[in-house]
Formats: sequence, structure tokens, C-alpha cells
Amino acid sequence: MSGKERIPGGAELVFVENTRTGTVHFHVEYPAYHPLARVAMSFAPFVERCGQITVPMSGARFDFTSRFADGRLCGRCYATLHPEDQARAFEHEQPEAA
Ligand SMILES: [Zn+2]
Repeated sequence: MSGKERIPGGAELVFVENTRTGTVHFHVEYPAYHPLARVAMSFAPFVERCGQITVPMSGARFDFTSRFADGRLCGRCYATLHPEDQARAFEHEQPEAA
């Protein structure tokens, strides 16, 4: 037992970038039928996997992202993933080559 739970089927990782540091955190977005699903149109902040509180699209420090370099992933968020879910942290677009 790793003590880490699998991400349930139908759930998605949602990436949130700290626009000041470039670090990309993530949380799990559950399907609507799941008990942990967020209430639609909730304006409550998100709690990323590492415990970081974010309020994306608030014009502040955080914004949703889907395109970033792997090295910018938050190591503490990544460490919460079950080994069989870790590949999902890399299911995102890569930035344009410089
Ligand atoms: Zn994090």
C-alpha cells in the first residue's frame, strides 16, 4: 500500500500556474456525479494537491494553464500522485521551442 489514492475514472487533472514563479500546481477535478465534485460556478478558491490555495482568473497570482515545460511542475503536487497516475501529470502541451 502506498497510501496514495488513485484518481477516479472520469476525473481530470487541472493545472494552475503561479504567474510570478512559473510553478505549475494541479488539483483533481471530479466528474459531476462524484461526491467530491465542485459545486458548479463555485467561486471558492482551489486547493492544489500540495496544499497551495489558488484563485485562478482572479487577476492575481494564478491562472489556468495547459501548456508548460515539465520542469515547472510542482514537485510537492506531483508527489501526491499514485504511481499509476503519475503519467497524467505529463499529459499537457509543451511550450514552443525557444
Ligand atoms: Zn503544488
